[in-house]
Amino acid sequence: MTRTLLLKNTRIPAAFIRQPEGFGGEADGDCLRGDLIIQNAQVWRFAGSDEPVSADETCDLNGQLIMPRLTEVHAHLDKCHTIDRLGAVGGDLMQAIESMAADKHQWTAEDVYQRANQGLEELYQSGCQLVRTHVDWSEDDTPPLAWDVIKQLAQQWQPLLTVQYAALTSLDLFNDITMATRVAARIARDGGVLGTFVFAQDGMQEKLTTLLQLANRFKLNLDFHVDEGLAANLTGLEQIADAAIASNYQGHILCGHVCSLMNLNGRPLQTVIDKVRRAGITIAALPTTNLYLQGRTSGTPDRRGITRIRELRAAGVPVTIGSDNVQDAFCPLGQHSPMNALSLACLTAHLDPPFADWLRAITTDAQRALGVAPTYTDGAPLQQLLISSATSTAGLVAGGNVRCVLLTDYLNKFATTGISHV
Ligand SMILES: [Zn+2]
Repeated sequence: MTRTLLLKNTRIPAAFIRQPEGFGGEADGDCLRGDLIIQNAQVWRFAGSDEPVSADETCDLNGQLIMPRLTEVHAHLDKCHTIDRLGAVGGDLMQAIESMAADKHQWTAEDVYQRANQGLEELYQSGCQLVRTHVDWSEDDTPPLAWDVIKQLAQQWQPLLTVQYAALTSLDLFNDITMATRVAARIARDGGVLGTFVFAQDGMQEKLTTLLQLANRFKLNLDFHVDEGLAANLTGLEQIADAAIASNYQGHILCGHVCSLMNLNGRPLQTVIDKVRRAGITIAALPTTNLYLQGRTSGTPDRRGITRIRELRAAGVPVTIGSDNVQDAFCPLGQHSPMNALSLACLTAHLDPPFADWLRAITTDAQRALGVAPTYTDGAPLQQLLISSATSTAGLVAGGNVRCVLLTDYLNKFATTGISHV
């Protein structure tokens, strides 16, 4: 028997409707609005303006937004929430790496578990259904302790939250084909993602070629920290694109940071972006950490640590936005919240309204980047959707007192209390 629920006065950002034909609803800025018909806990369509709907239950959303649950493309759950014990931080990227290394003697299984679990709780509360965290890899093919802890947490958080883990290796590992093969095999066996830190190393092209060969052989998705600086001589992104095209790599590549793209304009910029698009690379812009670490001077910074989000997107390269470091040596502030990261990216990179399209950077485009089928609202099971107290996409992205909760939790609360505000 079909059970029908009617959500009156619902707004949905238009970017989250896969097939607008036949879905109905009235255009309302960058959203569609109407009375949403849910059948057997799955979104069907908006009711026609004069259409009588015989519903088993009705709830008036008063214009509140519903949308897919969020995706966090780039976290560091092994590092997060260490700031209180680090003492003075506040240098550039290399100083942050040194501070973090000095803290690692405290990374017991219990310590990593507590901090990473707190991070996952925060990501879940922020509305995420999918998270990718990096984990600093070891010198050889023995995984670091944090790898096993986060693997365990990934199992524990199912089915509430899907957690992917990417090994953050040293690019020099790929000098040694025997060891690199063992590491790649281990990551594949553990269901992980292969990552590395690409930053002006010698012999980069050879190492990347080896890395791509191993990724093809072990069918690994790739996630790079690349060109995390504002110096003009960083060419890692272009070299990754070259290596991916040359190896005919068929997996998913996510490249985070790429701040140095800011040094290119005009034809040279378009040449790199064209290669990135042909290689099927998605970019992860990471504003919090980049704003904190990049462009440091003895005074107030006059350059922005961010990549060319607008130019990449305009050229057809998908751009995602992530939280990155949260309260560690790389960023003493920050929150595990893709929506907050998007809000900051909008201010930093001048991402203008309407915001429905930019929300893809923390939802559908982010899922695709992680190799997961995107969630659209039409046809979605209710447990894959969020409801926000915001009644516009600008209000949603602005954050502040705006709340986002699982639509199923909201409906359960409504059923027991009759409260219809989020
Ligand atoms: Zn990172």
